[in-house]
Amino acid sequence: MKKFDAHVHSKLSDGTQDPSDLVHSASMAGLDVIALTDHDTFAGIDEATTVAAELGLTVVPGVELSSTIGGISAHILAYMPNREDAELLRVMEKIRQSRMTRVGQMASNLAADYPNADWKSLEEGSQMTLGRPHLADVLVEAGYFVDRDEAFQWALSPRGPYYVHQWSPSPPEMVEIIRNAQGVPVLAHPYSSRRRPLPREVLKEMIDAGLFGMERDHREHDAHARQEVGRLAQAANLETTGGSDYHGAGKPNELGENLTDMWVLDRIIEQGYQERRR
Ligand code: AMP
Ligand code: FE
Ligand code: FE
Ligand code: ZN
Repeated sequence: MKKFDAHVHSKLSDGTQDPSDLVHSASMAGLDVIALTDHDTFAGIDEATTVAAELGLTVVPGVELSSTIGGISAHILAYMPNREDAELLRVMEKIRQSRMTRVGQMASNLAADYPNADWKSLEEGSQMTLGRPHLADVLVEAGYFVDRDEAFQWALSPRGPYYVHQWSPSPPEMVEIIRNAQGVPVLAHPYSSRRRPLPREVLKEMIDAGLFGMERDHREHDAHARQEVGRLAQAANLETTGGSDYHGAGKPNELGENLTDMWVLDRIIEQGYQERRR
């Protein structure tokens, strides 16, 4: 049986490996297929695809898109969208701009209490998409915390004093944008222990807008959460997926620790945008 990990990140967002190293690691981990789903950017996909072809691995082009409603943020995985779709590209650009402004504001809030942190280094990284994990790395580098996880407990938490919100479309809007770009939308970690779940009526609107599936098998879902996702998906005729949400050294998540059925991949391929072969 082939192994498909449907959720991994590279250094182009908040992972720590460049796409080439990431694909090598996936191959070492015995995976056959990975979906590269960096936050709000496609920048790693070409490199990952090229290296994968050399190693006999398949890369499904994807992205993990930010969305927000009533102060609750939700991540939506989009598989195989047309990466030249003008509206999708415009929205992704706007999210990345808003992330940059927001990270800058959080850095200046943090600077008062963490004076030895080198915020300038944020501009030198290779990432396209900035987020709190990059602020965490700066705080860890300056010796304030041992790892990203510790920095997130308080300093970067929405409950802490330094937090700033960022702009993104609502979840149902995002599902519509993805479908209009011929992408296949999957709600990421809907019952993550780290976040507030979306209200039922928002989920209903997402389903009406064409949601394909929900990520069920994920490290931040306990047995009860997985059962709940399975139940909801069955009732709404949605597929369920699984993925590691690998972030390299940025999180303990291991490649392949959760997987997606190959027949779900077949359905994604049926519904996704077919790139013309050159
Ligand atoms: P942001 O994109 O700025 O909202 O930050 C959210 C990102 O931070 C998520 O994509 C996670 O990958 C990462 N993250 C959240 N909590 C933690 C944690 N405790 N340790 C490491 N990374 C985290
Ligand atoms: Fe992340
Ligand atoms: Fe996520
Ligand atoms: Zn992710």
